[in-house]
Amino acid sequence: MAERLRNWAGNIEFGPARVHRPETVEEVRRIVAGAERVRVLGTGHSFNPIADTPGDLISVAGLPADIRIDRERGTVSVAGGVRYGELARALDAAGYALHNLGSLPHISVAGAVATGTHGSGVGLGNLATAVAGVEIVTGGGELVSLGRGDADFAGSVVALGALGVVVRVTLDVVPAYRVSQHVFERLPRAQLDAHWEEIAGAGYSVSLFTGWRGDTVDQVWVKRREGDAPAPAELFGAGPAGGARHPIAAMSPVNCTEQGGVPGPWHARLPHFRLEFTPSAGDELQSEYFVARADAVAAFAAVERVRDLVVPALQISEIRTVAADGLWLSPHYERDSVALHFTWVPNNDLVLRAVDALEAELAPLRARAHWGKVFRRAPRLPRARDFVGLAERLDPRGTFRNAFVERHVWAE
Ligand SMILES: Cc1cc2nc3c(=O)[nH]c(=O)nc-3n(C[C@H](O)[C@H](O)[C@H](O)COP(=O)(O)OP(=O)(O)OC[C@H]3O[C@@H](n4cnc5c(N)ncnc54)[C@H](O)[C@@H]3O)c2cc1C
Repeated sequence: MAERLRNWAGNIEFGPARVHRPETVEEVRRIVAGAERVRVLGTGHSFNPIADTPGDLISVAGLPADIRIDRERGTVSVAGGVRYGELARALDAAGYALHNLGSLPHISVAGAVATGTHGSGVGLGNLATAVAGVEIVTGGGELVSLGRGDADFAGSVVALGALGVVVRVTLDVVPAYRVSQHVFERLPRAQLDAHWEEIAGAGYSVSLFTGWRGDTVDQVWVKRREGDAPAPAELFGAGPAGGARHPIAAMSPVNCTEQGGVPGPWHARLPHFRLEFTPSAGDELQSEYFVARADAVAAFAAVERVRDLVVPALQISEIRTVAADGLWLSPHYERDSVALHFTWVPNNDLVLRAVDALEAELAPLRARAHWGKVFRRAPRLPRARDFVGLAERLDPRGTFRNAFVERHVWAE
Protein backbone atom coordinates (compact mmCIF):
# COMPACT_ATOMS: atom_id res chain seq x y z
CA MET A 1 0.00 0.00 0.00
CA ALA A 2 1.20 3.53 -0.78
CA GLU A 3 2.48 5.57 2.17
CA ARG A 4 -0.04 8.00 3.65
CA LEU A 5 0.90 11.57 2.90
CA ARG A 6 -0.68 14.79 4.11
CA ASN A 7 -0.05 18.43 3.32
CA TRP A 8 1.61 20.73 5.86
CA ALA A 9 -1.71 21.92 7.28
CA GLY A 10 -2.96 18.33 7.58
CA ASN A 11 -6.32 19.15 5.97
CA ILE A 12 -5.57 17.18 2.77
CA GLU A 13 -4.68 13.50 2.63
CA PHE A 14 -3.13 12.68 -0.73
CA GLY A 15 -4.33 9.53 -2.43
CA PRO A 16 -1.64 8.39 -4.89
CA ALA A 17 -1.27 4.75 -5.88
CA ARG A 18 2.53 5.17 -5.76
CA VAL A 19 4.97 7.74 -4.32
CA HIS A 20 8.40 8.22 -5.94
CA ARG A 21 11.43 10.03 -4.58
CA PRO A 22 13.84 10.14 -7.55
CA GLU A 23 17.43 11.26 -7.04
CA THR A 24 18.29 12.01 -10.67
CA VAL A 25 16.58 13.69 -13.62
CA GLU A 26 16.99 10.44 -15.58
CA GLU A 27 14.97 8.66 -12.91
CA VAL A 28 12.25 11.35 -13.16
CA ARG A 29 12.11 10.83 -16.93
CA ARG A 30 11.77 7.05 -16.56
CA ILE A 31 8.99 7.34 -13.98
CA VAL A 32 7.03 9.82 -16.10
CA ALA A 33 7.49 7.81 -19.31
CA GLY A 34 6.03 4.73 -17.63
CA ALA A 35 3.11 6.40 -15.86
CA GLU A 36 -0.42 7.27 -16.88
CA ARG A 37 -1.22 10.02 -14.35
CA VAL A 38 1.48 12.00 -12.54
CA ARG A 39 1.56 14.95 -10.14
CA VAL A 40 4.52 16.55 -8.41
CA LEU A 41 4.79 17.36 -4.74
CA GLY A 42 6.96 20.26 -3.57
CA THR A 43 7.01 20.75 0.18
CA GLY A 44 3.24 20.29 0.51
CA HIS A 45 2.53 23.77 1.84
CA SER A 46 -0.61 24.29 -0.25
CA PHE A 47 -3.96 24.12 1.52
CA ASN A 48 -6.00 22.34 -1.18
CA PRO A 49 -5.67 19.18 -3.33
CA ILE A 50 -3.70 20.98 -6.09
CA ALA A 51 -0.83 18.44 -5.88
CA ASP A 52 -2.97 15.32 -5.47
CA THR A 53 -3.36 12.40 -7.88
CA PRO A 54 -4.78 8.88 -7.84
CA GLY A 55 -1.74 7.86 -9.95
CA ASP A 56 1.97 8.50 -9.38
CA LEU A 57 3.12 11.26 -7.04
CA ILE A 58 6.71 12.42 -7.51
CA SER A 59 8.52 14.25 -4.73
CA VAL A 60 11.42 16.24 -6.14
CA ALA A 61 12.99 16.86 -2.71
CA GLY A 62 15.66 14.22 -3.36
CA LEU A 63 17.15 15.74 -6.52
CA PRO A 64 20.59 17.24 -5.72
CA ALA A 65 20.29 21.00 -5.05
CA ASP A 66 23.09 21.82 -7.51
CA ILE A 67 23.00 25.60 -6.94
CA ARG A 68 24.87 27.32 -9.81
CA ILE A 69 25.39 31.09 -9.94
CA ASP A 70 26.07 32.70 -13.33
CA ARG A 71 27.70 36.04 -12.50
CA GLU A 72 27.70 37.21 -16.10
CA ARG A 73 24.01 36.64 -16.69
CA GLY A 74 23.00 37.62 -13.13
CA THR A 75 21.13 34.37 -12.55
CA VAL A 76 21.14 31.33 -10.32
CA SER A 77 19.99 27.90 -11.43
CA VAL A 78 18.76 25.33 -8.90
CA ALA A 79 16.92 22.03 -8.69
CA GLY A 80 13.15 22.59 -8.47
CA GLY A 81 12.84 21.04 -5.01
CA VAL A 82 15.33 23.41 -3.33
CA ARG A 83 13.80 25.45 -0.52
CA TYR A 84 14.06 29.22 -0.54
CA GLY A 85 15.84 29.18 2.81
CA GLU A 86 18.67 27.01 1.49
CA LEU A 87 18.91 29.05 -1.72
CA ALA A 88 18.95 32.37 0.17
CA ARG A 89 21.88 31.27 2.33
CA ALA A 90 23.91 30.17 -0.70
CA LEU A 91 23.13 33.37 -2.61
CA ASP A 92 23.92 35.67 0.29
CA ALA A 93 27.23 33.91 0.89
CA ALA A 94 28.15 34.66 -2.74
CA GLY A 95 27.04 38.33 -2.47
CA TYR A 96 23.68 37.92 -4.23
CA ALA A 97 20.00 38.18 -3.38
CA LEU A 98 16.49 37.62 -4.73
CA HIS A 99 14.22 40.62 -5.26
CA ASN A 100 11.68 39.30 -2.77
CA LEU A 101 10.67 36.35 -0.59
CA GLY A 102 7.40 34.91 0.74
CA SER A 103 6.68 34.85 4.45
CA LEU A 104 8.00 31.30 4.87
CA PRO A 105 11.46 30.14 3.72
CA HIS A 106 10.58 26.45 3.95
CA ILE A 107 8.70 26.17 0.64
CA SER A 108 10.31 24.80 -2.53
CA VAL A 109 11.23 27.08 -5.42
CA ALA A 110 9.31 25.13 -8.11
CA GLY A 111 6.29 24.66 -5.83
CA ALA A 112 6.12 28.35 -4.92
CA VAL A 113 6.59 29.50 -8.48
CA ALA A 114 3.90 27.04 -9.71
CA THR A 115 1.19 28.84 -7.71
CA GLY A 116 2.40 32.45 -8.05
CA THR A 117 3.57 32.73 -4.44
CA HIS A 118 4.37 36.33 -3.51
CA GLY A 119 5.79 38.59 -0.84
CA SER A 120 4.88 42.27 -0.53
CA GLY A 121 5.92 45.49 -2.25
CA VAL A 122 4.18 47.84 -4.68
CA GLY A 123 7.13 47.54 -7.04
CA LEU A 124 7.77 43.84 -6.50
CA GLY A 125 6.36 41.11 -8.71
CA ASN A 126 5.57 37.69 -7.27
CA LEU A 127 8.37 35.11 -6.89
CA ALA A 128 7.61 33.63 -10.33
CA THR A 129 8.57 36.93 -11.98
CA ALA A 130 12.21 36.23 -11.08
CA VAL A 131 12.16 33.06 -13.20
CA ALA A 132 14.34 33.36 -16.30
CA GLY A 133 14.10 29.72 -17.37
CA VAL A 134 12.65 26.31 -16.53
CA GLU A 135 13.58 22.74 -17.39
CA ILE A 136 10.52 20.50 -17.47
CA VAL A 137 10.12 16.75 -17.85
CA THR A 138 6.93 16.62 -19.93
CA GLY A 139 4.35 13.88 -20.56
CA GLY A 140 6.42 11.47 -22.64
CA GLY A 141 9.46 11.86 -20.38
CA GLU A 142 11.17 14.43 -22.63
CA LEU A 143 13.25 17.20 -21.07
CA VAL A 144 12.10 20.61 -22.38
CA SER A 145 13.91 23.89 -21.65
CA LEU A 146 12.06 27.19 -21.88
CA GLY A 147 13.57 30.62 -21.33
CA ARG A 148 12.34 34.19 -21.18
CA GLY A 149 11.74 35.26 -24.76
CA ASP A 150 10.43 31.84 -25.89
CA ALA A 151 6.83 32.01 -27.15
CA ASP A 152 5.50 29.57 -24.51
CA PHE A 153 7.49 30.94 -21.61
CA ALA A 154 4.82 33.21 -20.09
CA GLY A 155 2.52 30.20 -19.86
CA SER A 156 5.01 27.80 -18.36
CA VAL A 157 6.08 29.43 -15.10
CA VAL A 158 2.92 29.67 -12.97
CA ALA A 159 1.74 26.32 -14.28
CA LEU A 160 0.16 24.52 -11.29
CA GLY A 161 2.25 21.44 -12.04
CA ALA A 162 0.11 20.81 -15.13
CA LEU A 163 2.89 20.93 -17.74
CA GLY A 164 5.31 18.45 -16.20
CA VAL A 165 7.99 18.03 -13.55
CA VAL A 166 10.06 21.21 -13.18
CA VAL A 167 13.49 19.74 -12.45
CA ARG A 168 15.48 23.01 -12.69
CA VAL A 169 14.63 26.68 -12.34
CA THR A 170 16.82 29.65 -13.30
CA LEU A 171 16.15 32.84 -11.33
CA ASP A 172 17.32 36.43 -11.72
CA VAL A 173 19.53 37.60 -8.88
CA VAL A 174 20.57 41.08 -7.70
CA PRO A 175 23.50 42.19 -5.56
CA ALA A 176 22.93 41.36 -1.86
CA TYR A 177 21.25 44.18 0.07
CA ARG A 178 20.43 44.98 3.66
CA VAL A 179 16.98 45.65 5.07
CA SER A 180 15.64 47.01 8.34
CA GLN A 181 12.11 46.64 9.59
CA HIS A 182 9.98 48.86 11.79
CA VAL A 183 6.66 47.82 13.28
CA PHE A 184 3.97 50.47 13.82
CA GLU A 185 0.86 49.79 15.89
CA ARG A 186 -2.79 50.85 15.94
CA LEU A 187 -3.18 52.52 12.59
CA PRO A 188 -6.52 54.35 12.72
CA ARG A 189 -8.84 52.48 10.33
CA ALA A 190 -9.96 55.71 8.62
CA GLN A 191 -6.32 56.58 7.87
CA LEU A 192 -5.90 53.32 5.98
CA ASP A 193 -8.61 54.39 3.52
CA ALA A 194 -7.42 57.99 3.35
CA HIS A 195 -3.72 57.18 2.82
CA TRP A 196 -3.73 53.62 1.42
CA GLU A 197 -1.27 54.27 -1.41
CA GLU A 198 1.19 56.14 0.84
CA ILE A 199 1.03 53.42 3.49
CA ALA A 200 1.44 50.57 0.97
CA GLY A 201 4.42 52.43 -0.48
CA ALA A 202 6.02 53.41 2.84
CA GLY A 203 8.88 50.94 2.32
CA TYR A 204 10.43 48.42 -0.05
CA SER A 205 7.99 45.87 1.38
CA VAL A 206 5.00 46.68 3.61
CA SER A 207 2.59 44.28 5.35
CA LEU A 208 -0.42 45.20 7.48
CA PHE A 209 -1.97 42.85 10.03
CA THR A 210 -5.58 43.18 11.15
CA GLY A 211 -8.31 41.16 12.82
CA TRP A 212 -10.97 43.34 11.08
CA ARG A 213 -12.42 43.95 14.53
CA GLY A 214 -12.09 47.49 15.84
CA ASP A 215 -11.37 50.92 14.48
CA THR A 216 -7.62 50.34 14.17
CA VAL A 217 -5.39 48.12 12.06
CA ASP A 218 -3.25 46.15 14.55
CA GLN A 219 0.23 46.45 12.99
CA VAL A 220 2.09 47.79 9.96
CA TRP A 221 5.46 46.16 9.20
CA VAL A 222 7.63 48.43 7.07
CA LYS A 223 10.78 46.91 5.53
CA ARG A 224 13.22 49.42 4.06
CA ARG A 225 16.40 48.87 2.10
CA GLU A 226 19.60 50.46 3.30
CA GLY A 227 19.83 53.81 1.55
CA ASP A 228 16.04 54.39 1.54
CA ALA A 229 14.71 57.48 3.34
CA PRO A 230 14.76 57.02 7.14
CA ALA A 231 11.69 55.49 8.81
CA PRO A 232 9.15 58.07 10.00
CA ALA A 233 8.54 58.58 13.74
CA GLU A 234 4.89 57.66 13.20
CA LEU A 235 2.79 56.44 10.29
CA PHE A 236 -0.52 58.28 9.79
CA GLY A 237 -1.35 57.98 13.48
CA ALA A 238 0.24 54.55 14.06
CA GLY A 239 3.04 54.70 16.61
CA PRO A 240 6.24 52.66 16.78
CA ALA A 241 5.89 49.34 18.64
CA GLY A 242 7.56 49.42 22.04
CA GLY A 243 9.33 46.09 21.42
CA ALA A 244 9.40 43.07 19.13
CA ARG A 245 6.00 41.90 17.89
CA HIS A 246 4.40 38.76 16.46
CA PRO A 247 1.73 39.47 13.80
CA ILE A 248 -0.78 38.09 16.32
CA ALA A 249 -0.06 40.54 19.14
CA ALA A 250 -0.77 38.00 21.91
CA MET A 251 1.88 35.56 20.62
CA SER A 252 5.59 35.58 21.46
CA PRO A 253 7.77 37.29 18.83
CA VAL A 254 10.66 34.93 19.55
CA ASN A 255 10.46 33.32 16.09
CA CYS A 256 9.98 36.61 14.22
CA THR A 257 12.74 38.28 12.22
CA GLU A 258 14.52 41.15 13.95
CA GLN A 259 12.61 44.43 14.13
CA GLY A 260 13.31 47.83 15.71
CA GLY A 261 15.12 49.19 12.65
CA VAL A 262 18.21 46.99 13.06
CA PRO A 263 19.64 46.42 9.55
CA GLY A 264 20.33 42.85 8.48
CA PRO A 265 20.68 40.70 5.37
CA TRP A 266 17.70 40.69 2.97
CA HIS A 267 16.81 37.06 3.73
CA ALA A 268 16.75 37.71 7.49
CA ARG A 269 14.29 40.63 7.22
CA LEU A 270 11.98 40.10 4.20
CA PRO A 271 10.30 36.96 5.67
CA HIS A 272 8.42 37.63 8.90
CA PHE A 273 9.72 34.42 10.48
CA ARG A 274 13.27 33.30 11.14
CA LEU A 275 14.81 30.75 8.83
CA GLU A 276 15.89 28.49 11.67
CA PHE A 277 12.33 28.34 13.03
CA THR A 278 10.71 25.29 11.44
CA PRO A 279 6.98 25.05 12.01
CA SER A 280 6.48 21.26 11.79
CA ALA A 281 2.73 21.31 11.17
CA GLY A 282 0.24 24.08 10.88
CA ASP A 283 -2.75 24.56 13.13
CA GLU A 284 -4.35 26.79 10.54
CA LEU A 285 -5.93 27.10 7.11
CA GLN A 286 -5.32 30.00 4.75
CA SER A 287 -7.15 31.83 1.96
CA GLU A 288 -6.08 34.83 -0.06
CA TYR A 289 -7.73 37.07 -2.65
CA PHE A 290 -6.22 39.62 -5.01
CA VAL A 291 -7.98 42.67 -6.40
CA ALA A 292 -6.59 45.68 -8.27
CA ARG A 293 -4.52 47.84 -5.92
CA ALA A 294 -6.65 50.79 -6.99
CA ASP A 295 -9.72 48.94 -5.59
CA ALA A 296 -8.11 48.28 -2.19
CA VAL A 297 -10.37 50.61 -0.21
CA ALA A 298 -13.49 49.05 -1.75
CA ALA A 299 -12.09 45.60 -0.93
CA PHE A 300 -11.53 46.54 2.73
CA ALA A 301 -15.18 47.67 2.92
CA ALA A 302 -16.29 44.40 1.28
CA VAL A 303 -14.48 42.35 3.94
CA GLU A 304 -16.00 44.45 6.71
CA ARG A 305 -19.51 43.87 5.32
CA VAL A 306 -19.08 40.15 6.10
CA ARG A 307 -17.10 40.66 9.29
CA ASP A 308 -19.65 38.61 11.28
CA LEU A 309 -18.70 35.51 9.29
CA VAL A 310 -15.00 36.32 8.89
CA VAL A 311 -14.07 37.11 12.50
CA PRO A 312 -15.19 33.78 14.10
CA ALA A 313 -13.01 31.88 11.57
CA LEU A 314 -10.03 34.21 11.70
CA GLN A 315 -6.66 34.11 13.45
CA ILE A 316 -5.23 37.12 11.59
CA SER A 317 -5.39 38.86 8.22
CA GLU A 318 -2.44 40.24 6.32
CA ILE A 319 -2.68 42.92 3.63
CA ARG A 320 0.15 43.04 1.07
CA THR A 321 0.78 44.36 -2.43
CA VAL A 322 2.09 42.66 -5.58
CA ALA A 323 3.18 44.29 -8.85
CA ALA A 324 1.55 43.24 -12.13
CA ASP A 325 3.20 40.60 -14.34
CA GLY A 326 2.64 38.93 -17.70
CA LEU A 327 2.50 35.27 -16.59
CA TRP A 328 -0.70 33.70 -17.93
CA LEU A 329 -1.92 31.87 -14.81
CA SER A 330 -0.54 34.39 -12.34
CA PRO A 331 -3.26 35.88 -10.12
CA HIS A 332 -1.40 39.16 -10.65
CA TYR A 333 -1.60 38.92 -14.44
CA GLU A 334 -1.56 42.47 -15.84
CA ARG A 335 -2.89 43.88 -12.58
CA ASP A 336 -1.08 45.71 -9.78
CA SER A 337 -2.71 43.96 -6.86
CA VAL A 338 -3.58 44.22 -3.22
CA ALA A 339 -3.51 40.83 -1.47
CA LEU A 340 -6.05 40.15 1.27
CA HIS A 341 -4.80 37.14 3.20
CA PHE A 342 -6.70 35.25 5.91
CA THR A 343 -5.06 32.86 8.38
CA TRP A 344 -8.02 30.84 9.59
CA VAL A 345 -8.64 28.58 12.56
CA PRO A 346 -8.51 24.90 11.43
CA ASN A 347 -12.30 24.53 11.28
CA ASN A 348 -13.49 23.71 7.78
CA ASP A 349 -17.15 24.63 8.32
CA LEU A 350 -16.38 28.06 9.75
CA VAL A 351 -13.78 28.68 7.06
CA LEU A 352 -16.03 27.72 4.13
CA ARG A 353 -18.82 29.95 5.43
CA ALA A 354 -16.38 32.86 5.59
CA VAL A 355 -14.89 32.00 2.18
CA ASP A 356 -18.33 31.88 0.52
CA ALA A 357 -19.28 35.24 2.03
CA LEU A 358 -15.96 36.84 1.05
CA GLU A 359 -16.09 35.52 -2.50
CA ALA A 360 -19.62 36.87 -2.97
CA GLU A 361 -18.63 40.31 -1.64
CA LEU A 362 -15.38 40.48 -3.58
CA ALA A 363 -16.80 39.17 -6.89
CA PRO A 364 -17.77 42.64 -8.19
CA LEU A 365 -14.10 43.62 -7.74
CA ARG A 366 -13.07 40.63 -9.90
CA ALA A 367 -11.13 39.07 -7.05
CA ARG A 368 -8.72 36.28 -7.95
CA ALA A 369 -7.97 33.53 -5.42
CA HIS A 370 -4.46 32.29 -4.51
CA TRP A 371 -4.03 28.93 -6.29
CA GLY A 372 -2.42 27.29 -3.25
CA LYS A 373 -4.98 28.23 -0.59
CA VAL A 374 -8.61 27.47 0.31
CA PHE A 375 -11.09 28.87 -2.21
CA ARG A 376 -14.29 27.90 -4.01
CA ARG A 377 -14.38 30.18 -7.05
CA ALA A 378 -11.38 29.74 -9.35
CA PRO A 379 -9.60 32.88 -10.48
CA ARG A 380 -10.88 33.96 -13.90
CA LEU A 381 -7.76 34.78 -15.88
CA PRO A 382 -7.79 36.16 -19.41
CA ARG A 383 -5.08 33.78 -20.69
CA ALA A 384 -6.44 30.55 -19.14
CA ARG A 385 -7.54 29.19 -22.55
CA ASP A 386 -4.04 29.83 -23.94
CA PHE A 387 -2.63 27.89 -21.01
CA VAL A 388 -4.94 24.95 -21.75
CA GLY A 389 -3.74 25.01 -25.38
CA LEU A 390 -0.11 24.99 -24.26
CA ALA A 391 -0.72 22.13 -21.81
CA GLU A 392 -2.47 20.06 -24.46
CA ARG A 393 0.44 20.60 -26.83
CA LEU A 394 3.17 19.74 -24.29
CA ASP A 395 1.18 16.97 -22.65
CA PRO A 396 -1.36 15.59 -25.17
CA ARG A 397 -2.13 12.51 -23.03
CA GLY A 398 -3.06 14.72 -20.05
CA THR A 399 -0.52 12.91 -17.86
CA PHE A 400 -0.19 15.92 -15.53
CA ARG A 401 -3.87 16.78 -15.20
CA ASN A 402 -5.72 16.10 -11.97
CA ALA A 403 -9.23 16.79 -10.66
CA PHE A 404 -8.13 20.19 -9.29
CA VAL A 405 -6.80 21.61 -12.56
CA GLU A 406 -9.60 20.06 -14.62
CA ARG A 407 -12.17 21.75 -12.42
CA HIS A 408 -10.47 25.09 -11.94
CA VAL A 409 -8.67 25.59 -15.26
CA TRP A 410 -10.03 23.24 -17.97
CA ALA A 411 -13.71 23.57 -17.02
CA GLU A 412 -13.66 27.34 -16.43
C1 LIG B 1 2.81 28.76 6.61
C2 LIG B 1 2.61 29.13 5.16
C3 LIG B 1 2.98 30.39 4.74
C4 LIG B 1 2.77 30.76 3.40
N1 LIG B 1 3.14 32.01 3.02
C5 LIG B 1 2.88 32.41 1.75
C6 LIG B 1 3.25 33.71 1.33
O1 LIG B 1 3.89 34.48 2.04
N2 LIG B 1 2.90 34.10 0.08
C7 LIG B 1 2.22 33.27 -0.77
O2 LIG B 1 1.90 33.69 -1.89
N3 LIG B 1 1.90 32.01 -0.41
C8 LIG B 1 2.22 31.57 0.82
N4 LIG B 1 1.91 30.28 1.18
C9 LIG B 1 1.38 29.35 0.17
C10 LIG B 1 2.53 28.60 -0.49
O3 LIG B 1 3.57 29.45 -0.84
C11 LIG B 1 2.08 27.91 -1.79
O4 LIG B 1 1.02 27.03 -1.52
C12 LIG B 1 3.22 27.18 -2.50
O5 LIG B 1 2.77 26.73 -3.76
C13 LIG B 1 3.75 26.02 -1.67
O6 LIG B 1 4.92 25.51 -2.26
P1 LIG B 1 5.26 23.95 -2.08
O7 LIG B 1 6.68 23.75 -2.48
O8 LIG B 1 4.85 23.48 -0.75
O9 LIG B 1 4.33 23.34 -3.22
P2 LIG B 1 3.21 22.20 -3.09
O10 LIG B 1 2.14 22.69 -2.20
O11 LIG B 1 3.83 20.90 -2.78
O12 LIG B 1 2.68 22.19 -4.60
C14 LIG B 1 2.04 23.32 -5.14
C15 LIG B 1 1.88 23.13 -6.65
O13 LIG B 1 3.16 23.15 -7.25
C16 LIG B 1 3.34 21.98 -8.03
N5 LIG B 1 4.75 21.62 -7.96
C17 LIG B 1 5.53 21.53 -6.86
N6 LIG B 1 6.79 21.20 -7.22
C18 LIG B 1 6.80 21.10 -8.57
C19 LIG B 1 7.78 20.78 -9.54
N7 LIG B 1 9.05 20.53 -9.20
N8 LIG B 1 7.41 20.72 -10.85
C20 LIG B 1 6.13 20.98 -11.23
N9 LIG B 1 5.17 21.29 -10.35
C21 LIG B 1 5.49 21.36 -9.04
C22 LIG B 1 2.43 20.93 -7.41
O14 LIG B 1 2.10 19.92 -8.33
C23 LIG B 1 1.24 21.80 -7.05
O15 LIG B 1 0.44 21.99 -8.18
C24 LIG B 1 2.15 29.85 2.49
C25 LIG B 1 1.82 28.56 2.92
C26 LIG B 1 2.06 28.19 4.25
C27 LIG B 1 1.72 26.82 4.70
